[in-house]
Amino acid sequence: MRVLRNIVILTGAGISAESGIDTFRSSGGLWEQHRVEDVATPEAFVRDPELVLRFYDMRRAAIQTKLPNAAHFALARLAAGWPGAVTVVTQNVDDLHERGGVMSGLIHMHGEHLKAWCTACDGRPVWRGTLIERPACPLCRARALRPDVVWFGEVPYHMDAIHAAVRAADLFVSIGTSGAVYPAAGLVRMAQGRGATTLELNLEASQRSDWFDETRLGAASVLVPAWVDEMLGRAFFERSGTRSDSGTSVSAAEKRGKPKI
Ligand code: NAD
Repeated sequence: MRVLRNIVILTGAGISAESGIDTFRSSGGLWEQHRVEDVATPEAFVRDPELVLRFYDMRRAAIQTKLPNAAHFALARLAAGWPGAVTVVTQNVDDLHERGGVMSGLIHMHGEHLKAWCTACDGRPVWRGTLIERPACPLCRARALRPDVVWFGEVPYHMDAIHAAVRAADLFVSIGTSGAVYPAAGLVRMAQGRGATTLELNLEASQRSDWFDETRLGAASVLVPAWVDEMLGRAFFERSGTRSDSGTSVSAAEKRGKPKI
């Protein structure tokens, strides 16, 4: 049986929900009273830049008042204590993984609220204030800053690094994502194709649940720390040469000869 060493974790808006940050789909298809097409596409920015900038200014201000929750802290514990590689690929544009303590191996595939992108010089300065007043880029002085977030219709960042990590994964875990946004939603298929075990942690079954070897339902602040405890316990027992899985049930993945979660 393949040894479980490299872990890739894909996170979505659900991991930050208990920190008080709205998910996309939490309020009847509207995102803080806006249709996604009106605030999160390049066409929307051309059509009504004021609306888009005001929306992102509000979100940028709001996330700075939020705090990481138990799920963010647990992933940092895993990253620090797991003997193999842990890569956290996040669709989130908040900085709660960083503030939760994930120090390395973090990839923001949809950009970051706390950065601006200068479309004149391609610089990406850290940005905590507002963009509505069209401030000059601190790097080139052009007034060409926009939020450094990937909008619908744009190509996500760091896809080569993400694909390399997923191809090398022994375990792929999806946390708090609906599986509605591609290419993130398809990563589980790539992981499976390479023989990885796959686990979904979500409040409710997602559109992609049947693509995973195992789905656990519940709040991220409960499920993620419990799963991390299991993983670190397993690592401890493996280091000390004792079996870690006595007493636990045989998973669907194990039946297929994949590493047990
Ligand atoms: P989504 O809104 O489509 O889905 C949220 C998912 O989280 C759902 O599957 C839901 O069941 C689950 N969920 C909700 N509360 C949860 C909880 N307490 N514990 C565990 N799971 C919970 O979000 P998505 O799949 O990430 O995709 C939409 C896009 O939204 C992404 O591109 C992302 O960039 C963007 N987004 C980001 C943030 C953020 O940065 N925090 C917030 C909203 C949207």
